[in-house]
Amino acid sequence: MEHTSEMVADGKLLHETSYPQRAEKYREIELSATLNNQIELFRKIDFYDAKEKMIHEIKRSDKIEAAHEWQVKFYIWLLEQNEINGVRAIIEYPKLRETKETALTEPDRTYLKLLVSNILELQQNATCPPRINSKICKSCSYYELCYVEE
Ligand code: SF4
Repeated sequence: MEHTSEMVADGKLLHETSYPQRAEKYREIELSATLNNQIELFRKIDFYDAKEKMIHEIKRSDKIEAAHEWQVKFYIWLLEQNEINGVRAIIEYPKLRETKETALTEPDRTYLKLLVSNILELQQNATCPPRINSKICKSCSYYELCYVEE
């Protein structure tokens, strides 16, 4: 649903305008992996510095910092599924002039595997799980899909 999300469009604009010279320096990469011969995972990483093995992810605010961290941890994990190891990530908040570096730990790998099998279970269910009716729904890419009847 990301193509319909205003938040995603805003994030894209932030990426394009915060560090205009960056596009020349770092590569955009598309990754995929098949886990347990069952689930296909895809992701595009906007700024990857292959020389430093560093992902750069730009965010407007640190309001949902944990989600930002799991986003880049998922990227690192996906790179590992493609046998690219030793990658770290920097989450950058240009408006706040802050950065946060992160890497993947063994418990993170275990947790991500669990999350992916939970997603697989969800995919195989005939019905959607109930809406969580949380404040965060307004920032979620699935908002319109979940709340379409309201
Ligand atoms: S809008 Fe997003 S967070 Fe809210 S219930 Fe739907 S999927 Fe979950």
